[in-house]
Parts: sequence; C-alpha cells; structure tokens
Amino acid sequence: MKCSACGVKEAVVSQPHTGRALCDTCFLFDIKERVRETARRFNMIGESDRVMLAVSGGKDSFVLLDVLSELLPAERVFALSIIEGIPGYNRLEDIEKLRRYAKERGVDLIVTSIKEFTGMSLAEIVRVARERGIGVSACTFCGGLRRKIINTCARMLGATKTATAHNLDDEVQTAILNLLRGDIGRLLRQHPNAPRLSEKFVQRIKPLRYVYEWEATMYSYLKGFRFQETECMYIVESPTLRARVRKWLYMLERESPGTMLRVLKAVDKLAERLLELHGRLPRLPQCSVCGEPTSYRRQYCKVCELLMAVGAKLAVKPQ
Ligand code: SF4
Ligand code: ZN
Ligand code: ZN
Repeated sequence: MKCSACGVKEAVVSQPHTGRALCDTCFLFDIKERVRETARRFNMIGESDRVMLAVSGGKDSFVLLDVLSELLPAERVFALSIIEGIPGYNRLEDIEKLRRYAKERGVDLIVTSIKEFTGMSLAEIVRVARERGIGVSACTFCGGLRRKIINTCARMLGATKTATAHNLDDEVQTAILNLLRGDIGRLLRQHPNAPRLSEKFVQRIKPLRYVYEWEATMYSYLKGFRFQETECMYIVESPTLRARVRKWLYMLERESPGTMLRVLKAVDKLAERLLELHGRLPRLPQCSVCGEPTSYRRQYCKVCELLMAVGAKLAVKPQ
C-alpha cells in the first residue's frame, strides 16, 4: 500500500487515529510537526528561553532530544539525566548511549543522581522505608525526588524552562486521575499555560503531550535509536488506579481510535476556559525545609517529609 501522505513510498506505519498509512519519512515528519505545533500552540518556548531536557534514556526521551535539538540552537538547550539508583536499571551503559547521542546532536548532557542529592540511592531509601513500616511506593519517592532534582538543577544551571518527555498516554491518564480524585486544582495546573505558582518553580513544558506512546516507540525504532528497554524492578508497585485507567483508555482507543487525543484536547479547552474565568490559581504555602511551594497542606512538602521519615534530607538545598 502506498503512503497516504506522499503517495510515493510504501506505507510502513498504520496510524489509526488519523485513518492514514504512512511511509517512514512522512511518519517521522508528522511527529516532528505535531511536536512543533504543540510547542507553538502553547507558546512553550520563547526566543530567549534556555531549555533543560530531562532525559531518562527511554524512547520518549530520545524523541524529545531529537526534535528539540532540531528546534533550538545548541547554546539554548542542554540535557539532564538522573540516576535513580535502582539495581539493574538506568545502568551506566544506557547513560553512555544517551551521552553519545546527545553529543551527536550537539547537546551537553549532565548526569546526576538521587544519591548525590539525598545521600541515599532510591533502592536504599525504599529499603529503609520498608524497615520503618512506611507504606509509600518506590514510585512516589522516585517521582517526587526526580521532580525536585529537575527543578533544583534547572535553577542552578540557569535554565528558564525544563522539558520532560511525557507523552499523550501519560498526560491523559494523569488528567483522568485528577478528575477521578476530584482534584480540579491539579487538573488546571496540568495545562501548559497554567500560571506558575512561584518563581521558585522553573516552568515545565511537555512538547510530546499530543504524541501517542506507540508513536514515540515507532519513531525511535525507525530512527534506529537503541533505547533503554530494561524495566524498573519497582514497576509492579506503580499505583494500581493509574494502571486501571491506562487499561480502560486503551480499550476505548481500540474501539474508537483517537479517543485519547480527543479527551486531552477537551480537557485542555476546559482548563483554558476555567483559567480565563478565574485568572489565577491560589498561592501555595512554602515548605519550611526546602522553601519550595507545596500543595501538600503541612509544614513540609511531601518529598521533604518522606525524606525525613527515612532519615535523609536534600543535600543540595534549593536556592
Ligand atoms: Fe521510578 Fe517507579 Fe518508574 Fe521505577 S517504575 S523508575 S521507581 S517511577
Ligand atoms: Zn510518505
Ligand atoms: Zn520541601
């Protein structure tokens, strides 16, 4: 079958949400264009922005690195990778692959670790948490710490934006979870143009938010990236409600292709209307340890509280 877009090359990818079958060239172009269009639509990158890409070595981060390094001059982009310290995961050879690829694209890669920031690797934190009977999943520690480290590094290294490789699947799951929990505040904060809650938060952009996960995988495959395929040993602990929402969304997507894209676009429009009506989001209290704003209504932010519970603390204080 010929490609639905150029009509010249053989189609190699079927794209159910558009009803098209595309050749490799047109498929890669389509993804790049969607990322550019998303960045334009939400005004994600201004002319003076210096963007820090948060990359893990997975397929999504290769796509992020590939497309953004094309979109921005080398002096306005660099990448950060965080080693969590999970046995068998995020190994040094994966980081080396990432470093080589970043270098090819003219992007500097800075590598840090959870241990560097807290004195303990993620595996050590989880072990102590279990010994002390703290019923918090590894993913809760991991996600919170990575967010804090990304924000701190961005500030320390002079980035004006941080870009993460969250794809459409991640974003739509998060939106549904926010709705299921009745957390309208978080739903609004998920919008790319939600006002910043504090100058201490470096604005986070997600240029892949309209790209399906399978599309990111296909992009990486067609580009010949050798991305990290090992699975984190804690994946089985990832929150079960998210896993159920993911399964449900995939079922709807199979029955009616394009559902996930439509849902996220509808949520974005809804958030835009609400943000227009309210103008701003409520200010948040500050954590008395790290000084960052927190939606967690206690004296400490959730990350600082969890670290204290396992006898650790942020070694590098956010400025
Ligand atoms: Fe971190 Fe959980 Fe992902 Fe593992 S599965 S890398 S612990 S968020
Ligand atoms: Zn084509
Ligand atoms: Zn804190």
